[in-house]
Amino acid sequence: MPAALSKAKVDAREKELKIPNEQKAAICREKGGKVTIENAPIRSNELKRGEALVRLIYSGVCHTDLHAILGDWPIDAKMPLIGGHEGAGVVVALGEGADEFVKKGDRVGIKWIADSCLKCDFCRRGHEPNCPDAQCSGYTWDGTFQQYAVASARHLSHIPDGLDLESASPLLCAGVTVYRAVKEAKLLPGNDVVIIGSGGGLGHLAVQYASNAGARVIGIDTGSEKEKLSIQLGCEKFIDFQKEKDLVQAVKEASSDGHGPHAAIVAASSPKAYEQALDYLRPRGTLVVVGLPVTDIKANVFWTVFKSLNIVGSYVGNRQDAQEALDIAARGKVKAIYKTLGLSDLPQVYDDMHHGKIAGRIVLDLDK
Ligand SMILES: [Zn+2]
Ligand SMILES: [Zn+2]
Repeated sequence: MPAALSKAKVDAREKELKIPNEQKAAICREKGGKVTIENAPIRSNELKRGEALVRLIYSGVCHTDLHAILGDWPIDAKMPLIGGHEGAGVVVALGEGADEFVKKGDRVGIKWIADSCLKCDFCRRGHEPNCPDAQCSGYTWDGTFQQYAVASARHLSHIPDGLDLESASPLLCAGVTVYRAVKEAKLLPGNDVVIIGSGGGLGHLAVQYASNAGARVIGIDTGSEKEKLSIQLGCEKFIDFQKEKDLVQAVKEASSDGHGPHAAIVAASSPKAYEQALDYLRPRGTLVVVGLPVTDIKANVFWTVFKSLNIVGSYVGNRQDAQEALDIAARGKVKAIYKTLGLSDLPQVYDDMHHGKIAGRIVLDLDK
C-alpha cells in the first residue's frame, strides 16, 4: 500500500480566485529576438469549449524554451510567443464543458503537451505526444510564463495535495520526461540501469524515478558535487567520466554480473555518451535516447544485431505518466532540486542558459 498523501504547504495565493484586469507575461515578438516582461490582457471572457483559465504561480524554465525563441529547431514556434511549459497553479475560470475535467480551485499543472485530439490512433493508445494534432505549451500554444494561462482542460495534470506548486513545476517537463524514459527502458526490479548525466537537471530526477522502480542505478557524471548528489539520490555506483580511462570497462564492472547494464538512459547531450552506451550495454540491453541536441547516433550494425540491442527514442510522457510522476513525488519518493527566481529574471536566465551558465533547474515565481 502506498503511504497516504501528506498535506503540502499551501501558498496563500492559491486561495485567491478573483481575476484581475491585467497580468504580467514574458513575450517574445520575433524569432531570434529578446523576451520582454509586459502587461498583457487576460482572456477570461474568451474561453472556448473545453478551455480553462489557470492562475499560474510558478513555472519552471526548460532548455526547450530557449530553442523556441532562438528558432533553431526544425519546427518553428508561433510568434509572438509566451513560452514556458512547466506551469503550476489553480483553475480560476472554465469554458463550456471544461468542468468534465477540472473544477474551479483545482491545483493543476500545464505540461509540454497542451492538447491533442484524443481520437486518433496515437491518442487512443495513450501516445498523445505523437498525435498529429498535438499542441505544445510555449511553442505552438501560449505557455506558462504568464500569470493567467488558457489551457485545454483535458490535458491539465492534477497536482496532488501532498505536493506544493513550486516543487511540482519542474516535474511537469523534466520529471515527466525522465519518468517516461525509465518506463521505456523496460526495467525489471533489480536490473541495472546507467543514468548518464546523473547529477544534472534531468538526470537527478531519472536517478530517483529509476531507484523508486526498484532498479540498481549506476550514475555517470563528473565532479565531486555531482558525485555526492548522485549517491545521495540513489545511485549505488558512480563513475566520473573525466577521471575514468576506460569508461566502457568501468561500467561493465559496475554492473551486477559484469555483463553490462540492462539499460542506459542518456540525459546528457554528448554524442560520445551514446556511442559508449552501445558498447557497454549487455546483450538485449536498451538505450533510451532523451538528451538533446545530439544530431546523430552512430550505431555499429554488426554489434547492434549481434547483441540484439534496442535503441528507443523517448519524447515526453502522456497524461497518465504526468499524473504518476506527480503522485510519486507527492509520496516523498522524488524531489526536484531547483533554484527559484522571478518572472522578471527570465531575460537573464535565457542569456545565462545560452552561454551554458545555468546548472540545474530554474523555477520562476510569476509574481516577482
Ligand atoms: Zn521541457
Ligand atoms: Zn490524436
